[in-house]
Amino acid sequence: MSGEQRFDAIVIGAGQAGPFLGATLVARGMKVALIEERDLGGTCVNRGCTPTKTLRKSARVAHMARRASEFGVQTGSVQVNFRAAMERMQRRVEEARSGLQAWLGQLEGLTIIKARGRLAGREGEQFVVLAGEHQLVAPKVVLNTGTRPFVPPVPGLDELPFLDNERLLALRELPSRLVIIGGGYISLEMAQIFRRLGSEVAILETGPRLTAREDEDIAAAVTGMLTAEGIEVNTGVRIERVGKADNDAGVRVQLAGGRSVDGSHLLVATGRIPNTDCLGLETVGLEVSARGYLVTNDRLETAVPGIWALGDINQRGAFTHTSYHDQDIVAENLAGGQRSAAARVGIYAMFTDPPLAHVGLYEADARKLVTEGRRISQAVHAMKDVSRAKEEGETVGKIKLLIDEDSGHFLGATMLGIQSDEIIQAIGLVMASGGTWKLVRDALPVHPTVTEFLPTIIDRRKPLTASSG
Ligand SMILES: Cc1cc2nc3c(=O)[nH]c(=O)nc-3n(C[C@H](O)[C@H](O)[C@H](O)COP(=O)(O)OP(=O)(O)OC[C@H]3O[C@@H](n4cnc5c(N)ncnc54)[C@H](O)[C@@H]3O)c2cc1C
Repeated sequence: MSGEQRFDAIVIGAGQAGPFLGATLVARGMKVALIEERDLGGTCVNRGCTPTKTLRKSARVAHMARRASEFGVQTGSVQVNFRAAMERMQRRVEEARSGLQAWLGQLEGLTIIKARGRLAGREGEQFVVLAGEHQLVAPKVVLNTGTRPFVPPVPGLDELPFLDNERLLALRELPSRLVIIGGGYISLEMAQIFRRLGSEVAILETGPRLTAREDEDIAAAVTGMLTAEGIEVNTGVRIERVGKADNDAGVRVQLAGGRSVDGSHLLVATGRIPNTDCLGLETVGLEVSARGYLVTNDRLETAVPGIWALGDINQRGAFTHTSYHDQDIVAENLAGGQRSAAARVGIYAMFTDPPLAHVGLYEADARKLVTEGRRISQAVHAMKDVSRAKEEGETVGKIKLLIDEDSGHFLGATMLGIQSDEIIQAIGLVMASGGTWKLVRDALPVHPTVTEFLPTIIDRRKPLTASSG
């Protein structure tokens, strides 16, 4: 063990919060250690957003090439070069990672340590952190250790070489038939990407519908969109065990009722668990929630003053933008600010094609408020009735808006359709600014866009009732 190194702050985990907070702190003259056991950029850059959104593009190009004749373009038969698509993805990941590495590497005052870090108690006002051969101390510790795939207790899974998001993205050959356990956003993005690249795909979801938290009609529309592309969707299944298929070459998922689903590869995408178990939290008196998450206040401070928990491990979001936003809040507060994570409106997108995007409340939440006497209206508009979507030949989906009739504020919005990931931000911005629907009505829109339809959709809103029947 080398001698004790003193810092002003220690960041454990270089995900989507820690590196950027570290950079801000060194710019303020502080001495910061950034400890990362794997790759800078964490899940997003190396195993999450960056590779999936890059591969999604190859899948979309293949899809549009197959549809080319609809647009008056002749292409001949469409062949996907899986290796080339994966190499393009890998190049993008390496470019993003090395860009981050180069930027962080030249920051004066930032020491990057490649090791697993853990807390090891206190020395007075200082926290002690161990990382490989290093013993570090600092009065401030920032935890940004993210999540890893949750492996469900399915009999037989431990004897099978199943895939998770990371192993799927490292494949060199296209699976002939990909069976996916799980019906959340990682599953569905991968299902569509691999289907479009040429795999047969079957989804097995134990819940009653895909995208469990979305409105029922939205989940149905997502299911319809995927089945229209030839993806087999099985919901409400009970998985009894998994094992090798008869020919020993693939996998078999045995379902209750005697049915089984075979595939060449099995992807398990059943959620994620926080990397808090090896952090030595007990040495400083920190506890985690029943599901292993660190509890923070709205300033993202843990129960131990001087320790912050940022990103997915604080369960205040499970996205890159929430993690990055977390560090922005802490950076400002460390400079005397008063920012709070409670003030932000939850917003996200699932990057199927077209994407599903959501902000604020769901329809079921709004209906509950109606039972409490709130006057809420809802507007629903099919994308097939939006001219820009028709012109693009991409009419799948719908737009739903929820409006509080007393205040005029948007309560939430869900959009499944072309460019929803961008359009949702118009509503997100109005919500964050405290504006009302009149702002959207009165602002001059660009034609022809999907966004220009928002005033028309708002005009057609109807009172929401307590029940959907
Ligand atoms: C397949 C997939 C696709 C996704 N797509 C999107 C998307 O399109 N949009 C979006 O917003 N989000 C997406 N996400 C989620 C997104 O990747 C995460 O929310 C994001 O990475 C934020 O995580 P984080 O900052 O909390 O930590 P992470 O990015 O998970 O990074 C944590 C880092 O800490 C390191 N670490 C852990 N323990 C230790 C330790 N003890 N010592 C040292 N280092 C440690 C890990 O190696 C890792 O590098 C996706 C995730 C997956 C899996």
